[in-house]
This record gives sequence, C-alpha cells and structure tokens, in this order.
Amino acid sequence: MHNNTGLRGQPVVLVVDDDMAERLLIVETLLENNLAVEEAEDGVEALELFQRFSPDLVLMDVKMPRMDGFTACGEMRKLPGGIDTAIVLVTGLDDIASILRAFDVGATDFMTKPVNWPLLSHRVRYLLRARDAFRNLRQSEQRLSVAQKIAKLGNWDWDFEKDTVYSSNQMCALWGLDPVDGRFSHEMFLQCVHPDDNEAVRATVKNALEEKKPYRLEYKIQLADGSSRIIHEQAEVEYDTNGVPVSMHGTVQDISERKQAEEKIRLLAYYDALTGLPNRQLFSKYVEQALFTARRASSKVALLYVGVDRFKRINDSLGRSAGDQLLQLIATCLADSVRRSDIFGEFVVAKEPGLVLSRLTGDEFSILLTGVFEEESLSNVARRILEMLQKPFSVGGQEMNISCSLGISIYPGETDDAEALLKNADVAMAYAKQSGGNTFKFFARDMNDRAIERLNLEIDLKKALERDEFVLFYQPQIDLHSGKISGVEALIRWQHPERGLIAPLQFISIAEESGLILPIGAWVLNEACRQAYSWQQNGLAPIRMAVNISSYQFRQTGLATIVKQALDNSGLASSLLELELTESAIMQDIDTTIITLTRLKEVGVTLSVDDFGTGYSSMNYLKRFPLDTLKIDRSFVMDITTDPNDAAIITAIIALAESLGLKTIAEGVETQEQLQFMRQHLCDEIQGFFISKPMPADEVERFLVSGMTFC
Ligand code: C2E
Ligand code: MG
Ligand code: MG
Repeated sequence: MHNNTGLRGQPVVLVVDDDMAERLLIVETLLENNLAVEEAEDGVEALELFQRFSPDLVLMDVKMPRMDGFTACGEMRKLPGGIDTAIVLVTGLDDIASILRAFDVGATDFMTKPVNWPLLSHRVRYLLRARDAFRNLRQSEQRLSVAQKIAKLGNWDWDFEKDTVYSSNQMCALWGLDPVDGRFSHEMFLQCVHPDDNEAVRATVKNALEEKKPYRLEYKIQLADGSSRIIHEQAEVEYDTNGVPVSMHGTVQDISERKQAEEKIRLLAYYDALTGLPNRQLFSKYVEQALFTARRASSKVALLYVGVDRFKRINDSLGRSAGDQLLQLIATCLADSVRRSDIFGEFVVAKEPGLVLSRLTGDEFSILLTGVFEEESLSNVARRILEMLQKPFSVGGQEMNISCSLGISIYPGETDDAEALLKNADVAMAYAKQSGGNTFKFFARDMNDRAIERLNLEIDLKKALERDEFVLFYQPQIDLHSGKISGVEALIRWQHPERGLIAPLQFISIAEESGLILPIGAWVLNEACRQAYSWQQNGLAPIRMAVNISSYQFRQTGLATIVKQALDNSGLASSLLELELTESAIMQDIDTTIITLTRLKEVGVTLSVDDFGTGYSSMNYLKRFPLDTLKIDRSFVMDITTDPNDAAIITAIIALAESLGLKTIAEGVETQEQLQFMRQHLCDEIQGFFISKPMPADEVERFLVSGMTFC
C-alpha cells in the first residue's frame, strides 16, 4: 500500500478492483500524475478505506467478490461525506444494464473497460474539478440555509409558466410544509394566509404584477396545527427581454417575536397593567380624536370622570392588594356597562370598552362619550353609573359598599383642548367629592370660579411632588447680641409650570385639607436638613435651620420618627434643627401635645412657637411645654414705633419669655427703628426684610460667605 496518501495535499483517489494487474496499472498512472492513491481489492475493503481516508474520488470496478461495486457505491453514499465524493464505476463496454444500475445507486459517472490509459488521469482531473464545484455549491447552500434558519428567513421563486413555486427549506419550515422537493403551487401558500389578511395579500400580488412594482407586506399565516406567525414579505417580478413577466422572487421572514415584543412595549406604554384599560396617555389620544371629529361634525364630546369616595381610606384599611382587587372589579363593572345599552344607549359609538374607557390614575376612571346629546341625558347616564357602582363588591371574600363621585366636562364649552377637557372633568369630580360624594357635577355649570380655581390648584398640587416642583427659600435670622447670622428659616415655594412661583399661603391650606401636607412636609424636612449639612460641607460655619411644621403634621403619629429620619438621612446634628410650631397646633389636646413635644426634644431638636401672640396661649400650658423660643408675630412688630399698644405687647412677650426661660425672635423686622426697638427691649434675635428677604440656597450661601454682621 502506498503511504503518500494526500500528505502533500493532493487529492486522494481510492482505486477498487479485484484484478491486481488492472489495479496496478491504474495506480501507477495516477501516481505519475501527482495524485495520492489508496487501493482496495473488493467492496468490503473499499468501505473500510473510504471511512479511513475520505477519498475525493473513488474509481471502482463493478464486478468483485465479497461485495460488488454497486453495493459499495450505495453504502458509501450513506456514509458521512459520502455525498461529496465522486464515485466512478468501471463497467464492461457494452454492459448497458450495469451503466443504468450505476446511475441508480448514485454513481457520479461511469467508465468502460478496457480503460483508455492516456486519457485516464485527465478524466480523473475533470471529475475532481466537477466534484469541487459541486461541493462548494453544496457548502454555500448549506451556509445560506443555516443563515436563513437563524434569521427565520426563507426565499421563494415563482415560475409563472409552470405555475410552481420553488421554496427554500426555511420557507417550508415557516409554512409547515414538507420540503421534499420544495415545489408547490402559489395557491398553496396563499391558502395558509390568515383570512384577515388573505384578500390584501392577493391584491398586493396582483397589483405588483400589473404595476410591475416590487412590494413589501406584513401578514399573518395560519398553520395546519392551529398556530400562527407574522410574516414580512418582500418580492419583485422578473421580466423577459420583451417585458413579459416570467417569474417572481421573494423573501419571507418570521417576525412574530419582534411583533410580540413590540406589542408588549405598546401595552406597557399605553395600557394600565392592573385593569388592562387604556392609560391616560392613550386615552387622551382618543379624546383628541373625538374632539377633532366633533369639531368637523359639529357634534359633542363629554368626559365623565369617576372616582371612588374616600378611596385612600378604603385602600389603607383593606390593604394594597384588596384595594387593587376593588379597582379591578370597578373596571370590569364599568366595562360591562359600556357594552350594555341600558346605561349609555344613545351615546357609545364603539361598543369596545377599550376605546371609551380608561383608568387614569389610582381610583380615577374616565369615560368618553361622543355624539349629539343633551346635558340632561348625561345627567341620566351619570346617575345610572353612580347607582351601578353602589352595589356591593366582594373583595377578598368580604362584601363591601362603596360610593363614587362623578365629574363631567363637555365640548363645546370652556375649552377645545383635550388635556384641559380631562382636567375640567377631574376638577368637577373633585368638586363632587367635596360636596359630600356619591353625586355628580358638571364642570363650570355647577361650580363657581373660586371653587374651580382652588380645585385646579389641588389637582396640580397632587403632581407637584413627583414632578419635583417645590423649592425652599431661606430667610436669615440675626442674633442681636453678636450681630451675626444665627440661623435661617426654610420657606417653601411652588414652581408651577404655568403660573410661576407660588407663595405658600396660596397652597399650604389646600395641601392641609387634602392631606398632601404630610408628604410635602416630609420633603421640606429632608430638603432643609440636606441643605444645612451641605453648607457645612462647603466649609461654612454650622447654623440653625428652622422648619415650619403644620398643625396637621404635628398631629400626625410618628412625627418624631420622620424628623429623626430626615436628620439621619442628611447627617445634620439634631441641635441645629429647629421646628416652628403654631400656637393653635400645640394648644389643642394638651396631653398629646406634651407627649409629642417630649419625643421631639428626645430627638434633640429645638422647638419654637411661630406667630406668637396671634392665637390663644394658655400660660399654664406654656409653662409645661418643653419649648425653646417664641417668635413674635410680624403684626405686632409692624407698628411698634407708632402704636404704643403693640410696643407694650412686645415688651410683655419678651418679659414672659424670659420668665419661662425662652428665647425670643421678632419676625417681620423691616426698618432700622424696629431693629433698634428690639435691641433695646432685649429681644434675642430678629428676622425680616430689613436684613433680607427669603432667598434661594445659592444666594444664602453668598450671604453667609460674606460674614456680614448687623449691629
Ligand atoms: P411664617 O412661618 O410666619 O414665615 C414668615 C413669613 O413672613 C414668610 O412668608 C416671610 O417671607 C414673611 N416675612 C419675613 N420677613 C418679612 C418682612 O420683613 N415683611 C413682610 N411683609 N413679610 C416678611 P412666606 O414665605 O410667604 O410664608 C408664609 C407662611 O407660610 C409662613 O409663615 C408659614 O406659616 C407658611 N410656610 C412657609 N413654608 C412652609 C413650610 O415649609 N411648611 C409649612 N407647614 N408652612 C410653611
Ligand atoms: Mg415660620
Ligand atoms: Mg411667623
């Protein structure tokens, strides 16, 4: 056996013949032509060598003992790599039956005996080249097929004349068809297209042929197993030299996963996860559309805002998940009512709740009605909805009764803007709630300007915290003994997106009534402490930070904990925080006040009474409270130099404070004379426009850096 088999990279030829002389001649000829050769004397040995050497070409006699050439050829084809090898069977010259059989068992070619020696090696080279081309083609087809599989991309060619469509394996896989020969009629593919899209696909193909234009199309196919896929198809027509269409080529891609992901994103962006209803963003689009149509058709649009009365309390007492369950039940109830005709009858154009019903936030739902209607019919609808929502809901195995409030805004009316229409309905609903709940109100018609204004602010205020619209200004306080800045008072401002900077007196009471004062107050505490500590970190001497505490906050349980948290979060020393309490807050429920004040003192903060002298303070109680400072109200300071009564009151307050061991700060000092008066009467500190107005943090910082004194 020759052992130069392919070592130098030559092609390997396996020569199989039981006739040793014949074999030798062939081998010698091939070796001379620089081919590597292996020899076998029958089919059995040939198969063994085939597996060992993976020859590029097999030259095999058909008639051999043990296993003939036909059988060996058939077996080789089944072996790994067997398809890529050229197998030439050597038959007798006139042995037509053998030649035919060679073809059947998969031979690449045949050669007849006696072998034409001078031509043999040339013949072999031709065969090897053909085999290489064949193998390259197969490899590139394989690569294409793998790529198509990864991309879920198939391709097809439609021959018009034969009306057959050749389709790639991947296309067959997408359509769930058996790719035996990959040829189908075009109609077969069309039949798989989902009924919803079928007509459109047929029309597109027809149009492409008529207009001679390529097309792109997305459609759904439905497979025999009931599953479906979304396909993106691109195709173009090919013409002969006379411009007659002869075929069409196209690619198809399975984009189901991408579509699913897109759908998920759309759901997250436009739908409320809890109820599956459109969210505010999507709903306001519907409202815009409705307004657009109404403007052109001179018809009307009505927005109904439904909110659950005292939902916060229900939610707090039930727990979050039961609260969610209740909201889901309300959503279902509203959606059912939209489908029914007895409540909305003449209104609802689309019976699909998803187009007219939305959950906007928390417990607020909205219904969009369009058409030509009277306000009276809206009243009926509103009444029916409220009645419907009064039926008991079963939440967590427990029956519960709720009531709702409903606000209505109508186009044409006060506005033609979708956002404003939504807000007006919200304002009307807030008004209905304020009027005791379980009722409905029309925006404007049932309300006066003041109520509208106030509720508008309340609605904006709800969003102000999360939109980060609050800022703190700081007003310096001066120690009259040293003339130096001893502290600052933090005063809140609301940077409203449309109305500009709003002073606290315009919104604090609204915040108090709506309960928003608690989160706002906590924000102020945190922000003030953070700022005070940050000044220290910027190298400024530590100063006291005074923060106003609303009476609602004072009565909130756990105030001391909230204060402590703000201190801990910021790193500010507790002795540098002063809480300003109002007389009215501390003079109610004395026992609780003492407990709260004591807890606060335990945290380490100082306590002052703001606007002292304007409320009613019992001396008996004042004595029992662990306070530090009295802040003399601005109204007394204002007229001290002209009104002897005020001067007397201030003198009395200072004397009182001294007897109780408390410090005094005079508020609202605007003139040199007022300052002079305070110093003469031994008031400890002053605060007022004479020194400075409240300023943003950076201005205060400059003020502090300047180290100014005021004596
Ligand atoms: P306040 O605590 O008595 O604060 C003093 C108010 O008097 C401030 O008004 C301040 O700008 C003003 N003021 C100071 N010096 C002078 C002066 O020389 N002349 C005049 N005419 N006014 C002066 P501001 O900032 O509008 O605050 C008003 C009230 O709003 C505060 O009265 C306080 O009760 C409340 N407030 C402010 N910030 C907060 C806060 O963060 N939480 C709470 N609960 N209430 C706050
Ligand atoms: Mg104050
Ligand atoms: Mg005050």
